Amino acid sequence: MTLLAPTPRGSIPPSRVVELDAVVVGAGGAGLYAALELKQALGPEARIGVISKLHPTRSHTGAAQGGVCAALGNTEEDHWEWHWFDTVKGGDYLVDQDAAEVMCHDAVDTIINLEHLGLPFDRTDDGLINQRRFGGHTRNYGEGPVRRSCFAADRTGHAILQTLYQQCIRREVVFFDGTGPTSAANCRDDEVQVPDVRGLLLAEAEARLDAQPLTPELVLRPAEPLEPAGVVVGQRPRRGYASPFDRVILIVTKPLHGVIPNLVGRSLDDARVRLERLELEPEIRWAKGAAGIVLEQRPRPGLAAAPGIKIRLVVAR
Ligand SMILES: Cc1cc2nc3c(=O)[nH]c(=O)nc-3n(C[C@H](O)[C@H](O)[C@H](O)COP(=O)(O)OP(=O)(O)OC[C@H]3O[C@@H](n4cnc5c(N)ncnc54)[C@H](O)[C@@H]3O)c2cc1C
Repeated sequence: MTLLAPTPRGSIPPSRVVELDAVVVGAGGAGLYAALELKQALGPEARIGVISKLHPTRSHTGAAQGGVCAALGNTEEDHWEWHWFDTVKGGDYLVDQDAAEVMCHDAVDTIINLEHLGLPFDRTDDGLINQRRFGGHTRNYGEGPVRRSCFAADRTGHAILQTLYQQCIRREVVFFDGTGPTSAANCRDDEVQVPDVRGLLLAEAEARLDAQPLTPELVLRPAEPLEPAGVVVGQRPRRGYASPFDRVILIVTKPLHGVIPNLVGRSLDDARVRLERLELEPEIRWAKGAAGIVLEQRPRPGLAAAPGIKIRLVVAR
């Protein structure tokens, strides 16, 4: 994979092209640990990059104070299966139970690994990692509270970030932080870059993609009443990404009941007929001007109609 680190203006100087074997997005506790695991799995020669909006040590993980839980059983009896039960119950049984099983089972080794990486956990008098109570953690499947949280004073998340970041630097993980979000991960110059076509009418969006060339694939979603109809409201991939398939999915608003027509300049009778067809009601205001002609309308044309919506017409008399 080739990573092109953007300058503040978004241009891409060739001197900043970096060849990488793997890229992690996000430099919180999860991303930094993943980078270390990748290094371990791919070998010391592997070039691992981490893209992040923020400098790693400013990630939200730094806010965690209470501790990180694992059934070490250092201060009282505990089992990873109890931790698993608490996790699934704590997630109202909506949790991916297989993932929770892996997390709770592997948490014990992960904490030991963090300790070996240098995380300054609080200690018991015997020198073990100290553990304290934390919301929702119980012994014997809900019988009572258990001490399962491993902590570094009230700065556990801060300690996790500092430890993992230092280990990443030691292992020459490359960081691309503070340069912008994932749009920093551009691809090769010769690949097609997807333009931002959100907010455009479908025909205009299709013309822009065609020029790249990219093929649009439409997904229609019902337009809310009074929402612009036939407009691109979403796209995948997003702007700036290279499309691996030369196709871009466009989410386009499709009116269920029709589009409010342009009535300005029509006679009142004509306007009434057109509104009736869409089961829309006119609300008439009179003004001076050429007799019987619609001078203004609200809401504007092009919006999705829905039966019963009142269309205010200013009509000359
Ligand atoms: C106040 C507070 C207290 C907490 N206390 C505890 C606790 O005591 N114990 C506990 O277990 N959990 C606690 N949590 C929850 C825990 O901190 C988080 O679940 C955990 O830190 C999430 O880690 P993470 O790596 O997934 O995310 P984060 O630490 O949020 O990292 C996300 C990373 O992704 C980057 N990023 C985001 N968007 C983009 C993008 N578009 N492109 C590139 N990079 C991007 C960010 O810059 C950041 O580096 C607490 C949370 C809060 C807010």
